[in-house]
Amino acid sequence: MGYDNWIVEKHPFQKETPPRGFLQLCADRRFHALLQHQFQNDTRLPSPEDYWIHADAGGTPKMGEQKVTPDYCYYDNEVRLMGWSAHGDKCGGFGNDVKDDVIQKALCKTMQKNVRDYPQARHFIYFVTIIGGETVLSKLIAEPGQDIFCTQDDD
Ligand SMILES: [Zn+2]
Repeated sequence: MGYDNWIVEKHPFQKETPPRGFLQLCADRRFHALLQHQFQNDTRLPSPEDYWIHADAGGTPKMGEQKVTPDYCYYDNEVRLMGWSAHGDKCGGFGNDVKDDVIQKALCKTMQKNVRDYPQARHFIYFVTIIGGETVLSKLIAEPGQDIFCTQDDD
């Protein structure tokens, strides 16, 4: 197999930086830039190159079994700043008719396990949606070893 038909470009050298963060999010195009910005603000990580991203449909509540990337960050690279997220206002990972509170509750439930799987990390948990024409972001921060409590009426 040859590569004669590939277009090759040169770009500035991309240096390796210390691994410091991990951010999981839905692939949805509307919110990933916002969530990256928020995560960088909260963690004081100046650059997108400071952290891995892990994106798939549904975000954190639908990615609970996808452990390769968070394990690699936490165990192999000792990342201790971990961001997790989901969004409402129609998520393809859940289906368009699934209500925001169902998704946010699923995020909380998944995080009850994630904080225990990665106990030495500081966890930043985000839920973003659209309410009355505005983008609304809710955030929960769990310190290392801290448990997550969801609303009382769930289980
Ligand atoms: Zn989504």
